[in-house]
Amino acid sequence: MDLAAAATHPGRTTPIADRTQLFIGGRWTAPHGTGVIAVEDPTTEQVIAHVPAGDTVDVDRAVAAAKAAFGPWSALAPAERAAFLDRLHAALSARAEDIAATVARELGTPLRIATKVQAGLPLTVLRSYVELAGQPESTHTVGNSLIVGEPVGVVGAITPWNYPLHQIMAKVAGALAAGCTVVLKPADLTPLVAYLLFDAIDEAGLPPGVANLVTGPGSVVGSAIAAHPDVDMVSFTGSTAVGARISHLAADRIARVALELGGKSANVILEDADLPRAVKTGVANAFLNSGQTCTAWTRMLVHRSRYEEALAVAAEAAAGQTLGDPFDRGTRLGPLASAAQRETVRGYIARGLADGARLVAGGLDAPVPDRGHFVAATVLADVDPDSTVAQEEIFGPVLVVIPFDSDDEAVAIANNSRYGLAGAVWSGDEDRALAVARRMRTGAVDVNGGAFNPLAPFGGFKQSGIGRELGRHGLDEFLETKAIQR
Ligand code: NAD
Repeated sequence: MDLAAAATHPGRTTPIADRTQLFIGGRWTAPHGTGVIAVEDPTTEQVIAHVPAGDTVDVDRAVAAAKAAFGPWSALAPAERAAFLDRLHAALSARAEDIAATVARELGTPLRIATKVQAGLPLTVLRSYVELAGQPESTHTVGNSLIVGEPVGVVGAITPWNYPLHQIMAKVAGALAAGCTVVLKPADLTPLVAYLLFDAIDEAGLPPGVANLVTGPGSVVGSAIAAHPDVDMVSFTGSTAVGARISHLAADRIARVALELGGKSANVILEDADLPRAVKTGVANAFLNSGQTCTAWTRMLVHRSRYEEALAVAAEAAAGQTLGDPFDRGTRLGPLASAAQRETVRGYIARGLADGARLVAGGLDAPVPDRGHFVAATVLADVDPDSTVAQEEIFGPVLVVIPFDSDDEAVAIANNSRYGLAGAVWSGDEDRALAVARRMRTGAVDVNGGAFNPLAPFGGFKQSGIGRELGRHGLDEFLETKAIQR
């Protein structure tokens, strides 16, 4: 890629500037921490902005503001909280184009996809929480007990970089709708879109302290939030390793945790499936956002009788994953988020090949732009279900394909994972597909291409996490249950 051309691409018109403040107690505030975080554009490898590296004093201030705001915010009538969230939705909608372009810059998601997924999806989620926040409190009776839900308190939200605003919204909108207040620490790689959200929060006039932003390193700001005695619940999305660490920090004071962690999801294609559709949809799913998707179907399991046919379709579909500048209309696959991520992914491809996998598409020698953290869409066949590339989350554009001989074997391979976040089943017989779906130990399964539902509970079995986000289940995650006997 021509670096000068990429840097001056006509699509890169979104103003990106240094941000020097944190949002605490309802206003933009100078940080106590003196460091800065440089934000890189992974396509051009140029630094495009800096944000503050907050410290533990900044976390203390933000938590104190959230604690002070909790009483009045939780006491508002549901319709009043819904009205604030509705104003936030309007302020954020006005920024939709900037959001998409900012994520295309700081993460590298192709603009067309960013418009739908990085800007559109969080707006849809926020809209759903405007509706849910406005519904009357749901109570029920059990014998002589009145059962009510009450907001848990101050929520510490710690989020990753791959769908940076969506993951923030799943937490912040759910928590605010439930009557909680929030301290957010976004990912270091993609903090700029969080600033757009807090510009909108500022414009919408949410009461001071209800939502606070502290940027900074996970080891400092994230740890301080997770360990803070006045944070009642930590809602984390990210890697399983960091999720475990956060659980330990929260456990010392019995704070609630919700964890949305990694995945290695199986796409099960039975022999009576519409194979071209199943494989093409599966390839697109695996490579969405350069494979940096926690729910990606990164293991394609295909009935042996149709295995070679599936590999041919997968190779052709992978070849159609055009690499390039996220602002070019023809680009399907942007760069990976960082140089480190690119090296990790390349290491996994080398490991898979060394362990005996057959290269069907892409690979380490496939042409990529000479600037930017690109890896070609790679398909590995004949992968041993117990091998590293079949077991570990690669978080890049690498799909492994594994044959099976029966529904029982497909279920056993699908469940041979420490993760359980998502998955898919394809069959001409929907009852058969549903039976396989019910046996998969995972938080979500799409049958024959069933569409993503932003109101359905989202979360994982096993090491993919604890708790659920989105919709009513996501709101309930931020409530404590109280029984009142009469
Ligand atoms: P990560 O775990 O490295 O970081 C996530 C967040 O935690 C970041 O904000 C980071 O700064 C912070 N952090 C890092 N170390 C910390 C510490 N010691 N204490 C507190 N906070 C700390 O994950 P990532 O690389 O940003 O994101 C990729 C991972 O996220 C993948 O494993 C992916 O599967 C997972 N993910 C899961 C979901 C889901 O909903 N299940 C969604 C998206 C991503």
